[in-house]
Amino acid sequence: MRLMRNTMQLKSQMKLSKTIEEIRADFPILSMKVHGLPLVYLDNGATTQKPEQVIRLMDELYRTANANVHRGVHFLSDIVSEKYESARETVRAFINAQKKEEIIFTAGATASINAVAFSFGEKYVREGDEIIVSEMEHHANIVPWQMLCGRKKANLKVIPFTDEGVLDLEAYRGLITDRTRIVAVTHASNVLGTVNPVKEIVAHAHRHGIPVLVDGAQSIQHGVVDVSDIDCDFFVFSGHKVYGPNGIGVLYGKEKLLNDLPPYQGGGDMVANVSFRKTTWNELPFKFEAGTTNFTGAIALAAALDYLTALGREAVAEREQSLLERATAGLSSLRGLRIYGTAPRKVSVVSFLPGDIHQYDAGMILDKLGIAVRTGTHCAQPVMERFGISGTIRASIAFYNTEEEIDALVKGVRKVTEMFD
Ligand code: PLP
Repeated sequence: MRLMRNTMQLKSQMKLSKTIEEIRADFPILSMKVHGLPLVYLDNGATTQKPEQVIRLMDELYRTANANVHRGVHFLSDIVSEKYESARETVRAFINAQKKEEIIFTAGATASINAVAFSFGEKYVREGDEIIVSEMEHHANIVPWQMLCGRKKANLKVIPFTDEGVLDLEAYRGLITDRTRIVAVTHASNVLGTVNPVKEIVAHAHRHGIPVLVDGAQSIQHGVVDVSDIDCDFFVFSGHKVYGPNGIGVLYGKEKLLNDLPPYQGGGDMVANVSFRKTTWNELPFKFEAGTTNFTGAIALAAALDYLTALGREAVAEREQSLLERATAGLSSLRGLRIYGTAPRKVSVVSFLPGDIHQYDAGMILDKLGIAVRTGTHCAQPVMERFGISGTIRASIAFYNTEEEIDALVKGVRKVTEMFD
């Protein structure tokens, strides 16, 4: 994985293909004012803003290319089907999957994980089997596995993390037994920012013949993700977190595994033949795409990925790392402020608490200053439990954020602490 490769090396080499002014002009919402002040949008981990190229394309699709995908021989249906399959190829190339058939369009990362938990669980998980997740997972990568364990009387085991927010790999190796059926782990933590050594985690599981699902919801937007290099068996992400629309996501799975798994939803398009005697499944990827998919979303997602590729994905990562360093340094200089997640390899996410001030109070004051941050548990309650806190403030940074916006955040948090002093 080249995500956040040595930034020193990148510094001299990588250049965005546009200036920051040109980039910001691509995102109409960034010039908005809230409470009479310029919007400072630092909630990109929750959802990213959309460039004009994506917004315009969606509008154009509904105006000029709307028909049900794969369902007709007429002109419009042909156009949409072609664009949809071309979007699949864009996703394949973006994550470097071997085959287009390994890319399944879903409603998002959550839907993708649920699909695997159901299909894989149906086929391979029995009473007394074990599933491994980590303590830093988003609820989306915990609850579907817990539900599976409930159905099958299987057990969920948890890889702990250190005070810095680094996964304890020795503990991970110790958790694997001959009952382990699958490992599901996040590529990057949505709270701590930690980039996990997924390649190493996968290699170890594979030595025991165990497949691994990697949750890429917080990694796909921050650099170059290469599923062939990671060698993971499943990889999931959401369109809305990578500058695409919401309601669209991706499940990547290795062809052999996907072929072996039963479908998780029945309906149109996922079947080869239907009769009351016997129904047979369509081939990949359609076997896992029951019903009318979000084809407009898939085509617009491909446009978002193209946007990032044209901008320069490594340059995006480099810019975000530099903004992360600025935010971390600025916030760390504030008296009494604690940062949660200080791993050596992070995506551009900073979670913090300014002294004893409640995160909601701080978040509301920041909002009045035009600064959008996330407050609360970030759908990762076990992380909060690990630190014995009720929540954090999270600033999640994108390449379109500016140095001035980072400084505005630091200034805003300083103001919050002064008000409470
Ligand atoms: N996994 C991680 C690490 C996330 O941060 C999120 C959302 O924040 C999800 C999964 C779920 O994504 P979605 O709600 O788009 O399905």
